[in-house]
Amino acid sequence: MIRIVISRYCDELKQVVFDVFGSQVSIDKQSIILSDETEVQKAKQALERVLSERRFEDYIVAENTEDPTELAILKKGDIEQLGLYLCSFCMMVFNSEVERNLHQRVHYFGFA
Ligand SMILES: [Zn+2]
Repeated sequence: MIRIVISRYCDELKQVVFDVFGSQVSIDKQSIILSDETEVQKAKQALERVLSERRFEDYIVAENTEDPTELAILKKGDIEQLGLYLCSFCMMVFNSEVERNLHQRVHYFGFA
C-alpha cells in the first residue's frame, strides 16, 4: 500500500492520480491510497511522467524519508512553508537547509 498526500488538494491532481492508477485508488481524508501498489519508486516515476506530460510543472513528487510508503505531491511554492528544502538542480527534498546545501555541492563540483 502506498499513500499519496497532495498539498492544496485539487480535482485536477486527483484526476491525474486516477488516470495513472485507475481502479486501485481509494480516497482517505487528505490522501489517496493505492492499495495494490508496493513499489514506491515505480509509482513516483509514473506520477512524475504524467505531471510533466500535462504541464503541471509547478508540482513535484517527493518521498517521505521517515515513511517509505508515502509520497507527496507538493507545489514548489509550498515546500519551504512545510519546512522542506528543495534541491534546485534535481528536485530532491530535504528536511533541513544544511542537508540541502551539502547535497547541492554535488552539482557544483560534479559527481566525484
Ligand atoms: Zn540535487
